[in-house]
Amino acid sequence: MAKAYLCSVIDFLDIHTHQAAVKPGVISIESLSLTNDIFLAMPKKKPISIGLHPWFASVDKLELQMKYLTVLARQENVKLIGECGLDSLKGEKIENQILILEQQIALAEELNKPLILHCVRRFTELIALKTRLNVYVPMVIHGFNKNEELGKQLIGNGFLLSFGASVLKENSGAAKLIKDLDCFFLETDDSQITIQEIYNAVAEIKNCTVDEIKALIFANWKKLNLTPNP
Ligand SMILES: [Zn+2]
Repeated sequence: MAKAYLCSVIDFLDIHTHQAAVKPGVISIESLSLTNDIFLAMPKKKPISIGLHPWFASVDKLELQMKYLTVLARQENVKLIGECGLDSLKGEKIENQILILEQQIALAEELNKPLILHCVRRFTELIALKTRLNVYVPMVIHGFNKNEELGKQLIGNGFLLSFGASVLKENSGAAKLIKDLDCFFLETDDSQITIQEIYNAVAEIKNCTVDEIKALIFANWKKLNLTPNP
């Protein structure tokens, strides 16, 4: 009886974290930026996402790093491509960042894996890129913490959003958006807050139980329906 019950319990899904620790009851997808160091230590079993982060990627090394990424991204435990994306405050000039992102989008489509995106003040360019390339794999924007209007605009353009610690702030765009949203993901990113605290906050906002949020997030993950379960 107890065993059957345990089997039916759904884990917390943390779609984007930089913590390597494996925690009981949590499926976390560790996000790794592809540098040579990480290349050597790339986990083979636990679910991960890998990509060229816009802070560290450079056009100079693009050819070589895409070569590595193309091989590694095929690993079964690589669930998402990224984080990759655009950042107006750090990294290469925007034209180069777009070029680097385009290649990763092409790889994600070739492998039929969703993308996990980092975007800082480049949402107009990101929407334009998605439209221009007519990207068909799911594009999940991680750590969305901007206003409700921008969130709705992104959802209207077919992006999926993942929320982190910002849901804990009562009047944040994330907290407002989540109220009426069913298709979204949750994450810890580099925060010290636990994924349980984030799920608790969302359950409170949506006036339901944590188990219902777990079921919802898990169903959303399955809806991506591209690769086997994490
Ligand atoms: Zn991150």
